[in-house]
Amino acid sequence: MDTTTVQIFDGPGQPLRREAWPIPEALQDGEVLVGIALATICGSDLHTVSGQRTEPTPAILGHEAVGRVLRKGRGRPELAEGTRVTWSIADSCGRCPACTEFGLPQKCDALFKYGHAAVTNGSGLNGCYAGHILLRAGTHIVPVPDNVSDPMAAPINCALATMVNALSYVPAPCRTAVIQGAGMLGLYGAALLRDRGADAVFCVDVQEGRLELAESFGATPIDGRPGRYEQARARIEQAAPRGVDAVIEVAGKADLVPEGVRLLRPGGHYAFIGMVHPNSALPLTGEAVIRKCLTIHGTHNYGPEHLDEAVAFLARTVDAYPYESLVSAPYRLDEIESALDAARSQQWARVAVAP
Ligand SMILES: [Zn+2]
Ligand SMILES: [Zn+2]
Repeated sequence: MDTTTVQIFDGPGQPLRREAWPIPEALQDGEVLVGIALATICGSDLHTVSGQRTEPTPAILGHEAVGRVLRKGRGRPELAEGTRVTWSIADSCGRCPACTEFGLPQKCDALFKYGHAAVTNGSGLNGCYAGHILLRAGTHIVPVPDNVSDPMAAPINCALATMVNALSYVPAPCRTAVIQGAGMLGLYGAALLRDRGADAVFCVDVQEGRLELAESFGATPIDGRPGRYEQARARIEQAAPRGVDAVIEVAGKADLVPEGVRLLRPGGHYAFIGMVHPNSALPLTGEAVIRKCLTIHGTHNYGPEHLDEAVAFLARTVDAYPYESLVSAPYRLDEIESALDAARSQQWARVAVAP
């Protein structure tokens, strides 16, 4: 029986532990065995490792990756062996109200998320910090075009697809926008909004390196540090005297929300994406939202069509933005602890791990 290497997470404060696991021989209908080529470390993985969020353990973490189809069960005629693919983080049933009526398969009654499940769930090959992953029958799998490299492709199925989903709710035309936070989500957001025809996308952050990156992704950098922000904000007000059409929150900080509301034009759209944690009580009155006739829209994960669009967008814009510069040179899977340290240092938007 063939084996694969996996890195097991037992809980916060314990180093990940390497094991060799058997690869299942017989696959069920619709299942696909993928050999992982490259995985990237998402901020939510760091939160799990540190104990800021709780997931069932023991588990194989990691949900952002690209790999090749090695074997498959019956069905999936479109996926030839050897095809390089990305896949949806969520596996959904396709039958429950969330999957059918609500249009939110990521909120499926039988939801399963890769990199967030115990090893006792299904085959156990549920995460991307491993040599192989077994994709389930309800998982959307998308071929990755040749011009999209592995480092570009790995974060598609978390950050990029989520941003595609969030921006799908922003009414067109969106001529001016402010993005609060220049991490991976913010940078993708800038590129996507420019692609949709925005004249000016302002990206607010407090780190110089991130502000430089924002500029290379088509945004006007806005220094958010106290003492500098007031002057920088004048640029936004000059470009959009009545306020901006949309504000995109990806910084995860509730105390930025009143300023976002202030920057919006009447009837503007506020996308909440980053504040996925309980420490996000809003210092905001209902009156401020009502009097400005604002829409506030929360986005968590995404559906299959957003993953399709994310892949197509990346393939179309590979030469327009320095996507590869966001991802570190790969660490070996054996060096996962060093890779996690590097991810914590925030030197890179993403740190890569290769089996
Ligand atoms: Zn992620
Ligand atoms: Zn469902």
